[in-house]
Amino acid sequence: MSVRENLATIQEQIEKACARAGRSADHVQVIAVTKYVSLQTAENAVDAGVRHIGENRDEGLRGKWQALRSSATWHFIGTLQSRKVKEIIDKVDYIHSLDRLSLAKEINKRAKGKVRCFIQVNVSGEVSKHGLAPDEVISFVEKLADYPNLEVVGLMTMAPHSEDPEDTRPVFRHLRELRDEVRSNHFGHAPCHHLSMGMSNDYRIAIEEGATFVRIGTALVGKEF
Ligand SMILES: *Cc1c(COP(=O)(O)O)cnc(C)c1O
Repeated sequence: MSVRENLATIQEQIEKACARAGRSADHVQVIAVTKYVSLQTAENAVDAGVRHIGENRDEGLRGKWQALRSSATWHFIGTLQSRKVKEIIDKVDYIHSLDRLSLAKEINKRAKGKVRCFIQVNVSGEVSKHGLAPDEVISFVEKLADYPNLEVVGLMTMAPHSEDPEDTRPVFRHLRELRDEVRSNHFGHAPCHHLSMGMSNDYRIAIEEGATFVRIGTALVGKEF
């Protein structure tokens, strides 16, 4: 299957999931995760109509960004070491993995303008996953008011892998409830309208639960390495 065909299938699934949930498909953006594919395939994705690209490592991001730059919006979705912030800060439009104050401080220091960030939350509590515990999120958001170059645009999570995607629903629902709680505080620095959740195997469920960005790798661009 070509990227173009995969994208059409995914768009169709997004529309169906939105219809089931009474949402508008206009409010769901697809991020093509290109970490497992070549620059050529990332270019094909852009040609096929992909507008958002996600990478989880600074090398991958820099390589693809240099070639494609303004043809896409750039998302950093992986664990971010503070010393790598300076390598990516002038290239990314969104960072999805803010999970500690030391990282917020570094982003704030290196930022050239407002940096749109998602707070990563470890909803499922799996030890292998990064992110804040759900009950730490509100106080963390409050502390981010000290870093004027950061804007908290939403929350992000990764659900545990499961054979039955339906098992992920409570995780996505919990993230939505947390997002609504952050929003209800009306923090000036944290409008928090977005939910970054859902990957190849579980994006339909994530959308039913309110995802505004889905991060799709394998099902969209495949896996070459
Ligand atoms: C790799 C990755 C994805 C995409 O995974 P697929 O299962 O290939 O769709 C999404 N989000 C993050 C944070 C990733 O690292």
